[in-house]
Amino acid sequence: MTKDISLKAACADSFYYPQEWAPSKGSLDSFQRRRGFEHHFGKQRTKNLSKGVLLIRFEMPFTVQCLRCQHYIRQGTRYNADKKKVGMYFSTPLYEFAMNCGNIVHPARSANGTAHCNQRFVIRTDPKNDDYELAEGLRRKVEVWDSQDSETLELVDPETRRRMDTDPMFRVEKTLRDRQKEKSNKERLADLQDLQADREDAYGWNCVLRKSNRLRRKEEKRKEEEERRKGKPNFVVPLAPPDDEDMQKAQQVAFLTDHDKIEVAVRRSTLRARPVLKPADDNAAAIAGLVAKRKRLQQHSRMVRARVR
Ligand SMILES: [Zn+2]
Repeated sequence: MTKDISLKAACADSFYYPQEWAPSKGSLDSFQRRRGFEHHFGKQRTKNLSKGVLLIRFEMPFTVQCLRCQHYIRQGTRYNADKKKVGMYFSTPLYEFAMNCGNIVHPARSANGTAHCNQRFVIRTDPKNDDYELAEGLRRKVEVWDSQDSETLELVDPETRRRMDTDPMFRVEKTLRDRQKEKSNKERLADLQDLQADREDAYGWNCVLRKSNRLRRKEEKRKEEEERRKGKPNFVVPLAPPDDEDMQKAQQVAFLTDHDKIEVAVRRSTLRARPVLKPADDNAAAIAGLVAKRKRLQQHSRMVRARVR
């Protein structure tokens, strides 16, 4: 039960004498403190030594629940605990660890009206059952685990192992059962692999998708083109198909066109459409033209003035 406690906690309980330690290296506490273990209690550690109490760092050996605040305390949570020897089991001493719940709760729920729950926890070692005994303020959280639920390998438990060793028939049956199970598992695995292989044909799926997309795009384009050719739907009444009689009548009508007017209109529109600013290459020619025009105007005005005189 205690196999999952960290080595650090085991090393910190002041009963572990590391190989590196020697009396010449000072006290065990100071030696461990230099190595980084949690012996930070100082004089507090031995304050109640006269009552047989030593202050230690205690690590919760499994997940428990506080009976006052119902808070779950995870395995490995550390507490400053009073350690006390309370008896013997043959030659093994029984120890008792006492600590307080540190969960923050409403003062009304707290054991002594403070912000912390402060429920007193008492845990005793139980060498008879190779376990801990929760004496006060705690309840163990039962965690059930089934290898079939989690679909992991089932290890042979000691009882089955013993029966297999003593009972040949049982061993044969068990072996046969295991083989069948293995076979069915293998078939299942093959099925799963096939399924995965089917789904993994990325190239094929890609091709199918691209083809369907291409067809859809083509269809859309064709429809768009059709719409464009149709033009705007101006007429609510559909036009009748062309008729020979209509054609003849239309040809007989002579329209009077004023070609001169059209020509003038075309010229004006081209003039209007001409850019206001000429390109850079034409600038010199334009300036020369303007200068010439100005000279002509000056000459003309001079001639007019001479005539007036
Ligand atoms: Zn509590």
